[in-house]
Amino acid sequence: MKKARLQDGQVVLAHQYNKASHGTQLCCADPECAAPMTFRKESLTHGAAAVRSASFVSKSVSDHIATCTAHEDFAIMAKQQKSIEAGLREGKTIVLNLNMRLSESFNTAALPADIIGQASTAEKSDYVTAPVKSVEDLLHLKNVIEEKGGAAGLAKTVVNYKGKTMPIGEFIIDSRDKFRNLLNKMYKSVDHSKPNTEITEFPRLIEFRATQNTKASERGAIRGTPMNFVKEGGNRLILLQKAEVPKEFEQTLRGENVHIIAEPKLNYNEAKAVLHRLQTQREQTIFLNLRWNVVGAHQFTPIETPAASAKPAPQKPGNGSLFG
Ligand SMILES: [Zn+2]
Repeated sequence: MKKARLQDGQVVLAHQYNKASHGTQLCCADPECAAPMTFRKESLTHGAAAVRSASFVSKSVSDHIATCTAHEDFAIMAKQQKSIEAGLREGKTIVLNLNMRLSESFNTAALPADIIGQASTAEKSDYVTAPVKSVEDLLHLKNVIEEKGGAAGLAKTVVNYKGKTMPIGEFIIDSRDKFRNLLNKMYKSVDHSKPNTEITEFPRLIEFRATQNTKASERGAIRGTPMNFVKEGGNRLILLQKAEVPKEFEQTLRGENVHIIAEPKLNYNEAKAVLHRLQTQREQTIFLNLRWNVVGAHQFTPIETPAASAKPAPQKPGNGSLFG
């Protein structure tokens, strides 16, 4: 696991962990789960050919509650992987069920365990399903599908949330064009919304990279890389991304680059005012806040940088050695 919970409820990422200031009383990142965790520092593996990054580990899967959103159950993951591989071979649609709480008000009792398919009918259907309880699950399953099914497999993959589905290619926002499409989609509902309401959309997976300002400051808004759009009449729209997080994640996410699954939100009044300015004025720079609401640690995970950069530099003969 890349995250653990401290005694005070703060969540810490593995590469942030410091024994002296954080102590050794570590718990599973899921606030409902009390599984004790220990820190495992970065180490060389595969005969020093690769680096295993720092993480938190528990003694046993059974330490975790059954509904834990944080631990990786390798037996279940292997089973899912097999069923996805079989589905891909048979040309079936892959349905990733987003069984995640994404807002404060979400009623967990109504959480659909597996809203589309039941195991008993699965073999007759033209789809296979896999549950996603965290952003790590989604990234893992996406890699499996990409490896085993390539682009064709991804093209047959959809994400299901509360009974609505979206192609995974639209769900994962990894380019400016996709941000533009998302904004356009959200703006279509501006006209139908009431003042002082939130405009929200189907959740998305984004890469959130904290801005220099956010990294430099101790408090205040947690902002991600702004997107720059050139509009008509010499107007420029700068989309500011903001992660809205509870107190226990503020320091966790400040200055970090993370994958986030969250519902995007626009404030109606702000969105309407921006639209008005774009339509009536020229030659201006306008800012718009796109907010990503994070209510649980299952919604974010650090973006792993390639391990190559962490490898020790090859030693030159005689360089710094005993006889150097
Ligand atoms: Zn747990």
